[in-house]
Amino acid sequence: MHELSLVTELVAECARRAGGRQVAAVQVRCPDGVDADELAEAFAHLTAEGALAGAVLEIETVRQVLTCGCGFSGEVDPEQCAGHMVVCPACGRVHEAPDALELIAVRLADDDGIVL
Ligand SMILES: [Zn+2]
Repeated sequence: MHELSLVTELVAECARRAGGRQVAAVQVRCPDGVDADELAEAFAHLTAEGALAGAVLEIETVRQVLTCGCGFSGEVDPEQCAGHMVVCPACGRVHEAPDALELIAVRLADDDGIVL
């Protein structure tokens, strides 16, 4: 369960940024191939208590970007992403997808402030 380790890091980072304040929502950007349902499930599990209790995970899905040894560099179609593998559309080489769960913003509950 790869998503769990990604979310574990995310939750730790959010708690650090919130600095003890209550978190209302967390916005993240994740590439195709990462299972959004599993992310949400892991997030709910890991935030059952503490500063992130009740926080909502908002996921924005973006295209996976690949740079391949054959010279290809750019966005890859979702059909060419499977789990944590990305297939180069130019040469067919299989790459391991980078672990990219990008934290966009942490929204706090008390004053509706946003911690970037
Ligand atoms: Zn290639």
